[in-house]
Amino acid sequence: MTRRDPPRDASRDLYRRPGAKHPPAAAPTPALERAVETITSLTNPAVKQLRALHLKKERAESRLFLAEGLKLVTDALDEGWPIRTLIHASRVKDQPLVARAVERARKAGARVLETSDEVLTKICRRDNPQMVVAAFEQRIGRLADLGRPEGVLVALEGVKDPGNLGTIVRTVDSVGAKGVILIGDTTDPFALEAVRATMGSLFHVPLFAASLDDFVAWKAETGVPVWGTHLKGAVDYRTVDWPETCVLMMGNEQSGLPEAHVATCDGLVKIPMAGRADSLNLAIATAVMLYEIRRARLAL
Ligand code: SAM
Repeated sequence: MTRRDPPRDASRDLYRRPGAKHPPAAAPTPALERAVETITSLTNPAVKQLRALHLKKERAESRLFLAEGLKLVTDALDEGWPIRTLIHASRVKDQPLVARAVERARKAGARVLETSDEVLTKICRRDNPQMVVAAFEQRIGRLADLGRPEGVLVALEGVKDPGNLGTIVRTVDSVGAKGVILIGDTTDPFALEAVRATMGSLFHVPLFAASLDDFVAWKAETGVPVWGTHLKGAVDYRTVDWPETCVLMMGNEQSGLPEAHVATCDGLVKIPMAGRADSLNLAIATAVMLYEIRRARLAL
């Protein structure tokens, strides 16, 4: 059986809209291509800069983040994320997929560094580091630029755990939902642990940052229905006739949804609990909800 490519999903183009907050860098001309540099010293400034991207402060100031591994780097390049630096181990340079990533990075005007396993260990801060690592520009949109969406978005209030956030982004991608809205003070979606947990979905799922006030204003403007999940919810989540377009709002790991957030919801649902556990893990609860909301629209 031949499968045709699915129609292009316009929501994936959000960042490419004129006026979007972090538009991709313009395609550089071949004149900008740089030669591959070889670095051997652990004290090379480039090593220090890349290693510093493990720190939240450094990511916030530079607006860069690290993607580790050929798959993640290739996913990001495929989705047009602006690459600044690619670094790879000398011993993998002749592997065709690595050579292709190097070529694409150079064409995009990125700095390409060839190095030793030892230097990569230092940058990745772990033994058995990935052989290809890259620094990309962060992309996170403003909710006001989104307009009225079509489809499901997940709003996360104050999510704290980067593993939970990454897992949720991956699940949002898996069910074909349209993005994640980060409300308030949340963990950094570009922290290495969050990026790893997305397994590449970070590059396919639009992220939006918003204060609660931004969210309230956006809801008033677009009229998108918002459903919250709450341990005090009186409605069984399986009994709702889920609309094609809605926002699923999830509370944070420690204290759940605050009253001010509950006030923005058109309804509150609960996932029934039978045993002695108080609640489900945030990422698990989000997955259960998303698979129910999208159940009629998912097929093998
Ligand atoms: N102690 C917190 C509380 O009182 O809400 C538990 C928070 S729970 C770990 C994190 C989030 O997952 C909740 O805010 C809610 O959004 C969702 N959640 C977890 N279990 C749920 C359930 N059984 N029904 C509805 N939502 C649930």
